[in-house]
Amino acid sequence: MLRNDQLEQWDRDNFFHPSTHLAEFARGNVPQRVVTGGSGCHIEDRDGNRLLDAFAGLYCVNVGYGRSDIADAIADQAKELAYYHSYVGHGTEASITLAKMVLDRAPDHMSKVYFGLSGSDANETNIKLVWYFNNILGRPEKKKIISRWRGYHGSGLMTGSLTGLELFHKKFDLPLTQVIHTEAPYYFRRPDLDMTEEQFTAHCAAELEALIEREGADTIAAFIGEPVLGTGGIVPPPAGYWQAIQAVLDKHDILLIADEVVTGFGRLGTMFGSDHFGMRPDIITIAKGLTSAYAPLSGSIVSDKVWKVLEQGTDENGPIGHGWTYSAHPIGAAAGVANLKLIDELDLVTKAGDVGGYLNKTMSEALSDHTHVGEVRGEGMLCAVEFVKDRDSRTFYDAADKIGPQIAAALLEQSNIIARAMPQGDILGFAPPFCLTKQEADGIVAATKRAVTSVLG
Ligand code: PMP
Repeated sequence: MLRNDQLEQWDRDNFFHPSTHLAEFARGNVPQRVVTGGSGCHIEDRDGNRLLDAFAGLYCVNVGYGRSDIADAIADQAKELAYYHSYVGHGTEASITLAKMVLDRAPDHMSKVYFGLSGSDANETNIKLVWYFNNILGRPEKKKIISRWRGYHGSGLMTGSLTGLELFHKKFDLPLTQVIHTEAPYYFRRPDLDMTEEQFTAHCAAELEALIEREGADTIAAFIGEPVLGTGGIVPPPAGYWQAIQAVLDKHDILLIADEVVTGFGRLGTMFGSDHFGMRPDIITIAKGLTSAYAPLSGSIVSDKVWKVLEQGTDENGPIGHGWTYSAHPIGAAAGVANLKLIDELDLVTKAGDVGGYLNKTMSEALSDHTHVGEVRGEGMLCAVEFVKDRDSRTFYDAADKIGPQIAAALLEQSNIIARAMPQGDILGFAPPFCLTKQEADGIVAATKRAVTSVLG
C-alpha cells in the first residue's frame, strides 16, 4: 500500500479536483482526505477516522454505504456483460427491467425513460428534447428556458446556465442567452418581511408571469425547477407554490421540467417530489437516488404528451439524433435495479419521511431559539440551518466571514460528522442516507448545537 505522504503528494501533483479552490489546494490549505470504506451512514478514511456522513456523499448514497446486494449485482453484470450500447433498439435485461421499474414508480402520465450518466447530462438531454418538441410542433421561436435563481441543474454549458448560482457563471461566460432566471421560492429571503407565505407565493407567480409577458410566451419553451431547492440552500417552497406556478405555465403553454435529481426515489418521504407537491411535470430528471451512486446513471422521464411529439419527429426526420455511448450502461442499470429493490424491501421511502421528519423537528427544537439562527427548515430527509448576524433585522454575515464553513468544520472536528456548508449563504445542510436511525439523528442534532455554540456563542 502507498504511504499517505506519497499519495497526498501525487494528489497535489496530478489530480484536478472538482469544486475545489485550486490555488489553496496547491498551497496545502485544503484538507486532503483519502476515503477508503463505508458502511451504513459512515465512511472511513486512511487516517483511521470513522465519520458519520450526514450528507450521503452529495445527497446520493440514499441506501447507505456497503450494500453488498448492489455490489454483487454490479459484479455479476460486469462478469456476464460489462457493456453493450442501447442504440437502434439494443438493450440488456438490466436496462429494460430498470426502465419498467422507473415507470412503475413515476407519476401515471409519464411514458418513457431515457438513461444518461449524470444529472447534468440528463438536464442537457431535457433541453434538447424540449427544443426538438417545439421544432416538430412548428414553433421554432419557442426556445427559452426559465430557471430560478438558486436553482441547481448541473455544471455543463446549458445546465450551468440553468443553475442560478453566481459561482457557476462567473468567468465561464454563462448563462447562455437562451436561459433566463426568475425569483427563488425562498420565503426566508423574501423581498418584504411583512409578506405572508401566501403573499410571497403570489409574488413568485406574478414575477414569473411578468417575465413571460416581457419575453413573450411564444419564445419560452420550458420552466425547470427542483421540487425543493437543493444546492441553492435546501429550501422547501412556500405554501401553494407549485400550484400557482403550474397555473401560470399552463396558461402560457410552457412545459414543466421537474429536476428530481435530489428528490427522486424517496428523499422527501414520497417516491417523487412531484407526488409530494402535486406537480404535473412534462419531464422529470433523475440521477443520484436511481442507483444510490453505486454506479453513475441518470435519466429523463418523459410524459405521454412529449413522447407523442418525439415519435412524430422521428417519422419526419429519421432516428432521433441524440445518444451517449454509455446511455443505459448495463452496470449502472444493474445497480439501479438492485437499488430500487432494496429501497422497497427495506421500506426506505417511509423511513426517509419518518426519520427525516424527526431530524427536522429535533433540529428545530434545539436551534430555533439561538440568536444567530435565522431559520431551521427542511422536508423529509433534507434539513438546513441558516445563520444570520441579526435575527430581527434579518441581517446576513459577510461571505468573507465564512460562518457556514466554520460551523461545518467545527462539526467535523469535534464530532466526526459531515454536513455541507451550502455554496451561497451561511447555510448548514443535512441530507443523510435513508437508513439513518433516530439515535444517529439525536447525535447529529446535539453535535450541531455544540458546533454552533463553539463558533457563534
Ligand atoms: N440537478 C440537481 C437538482 C442536482 O442537485 C444536481 C447535482 N447536485 C444535478 C442536477 C447535477 O447532477 P450531476 O452532478 O450528476 O451532473
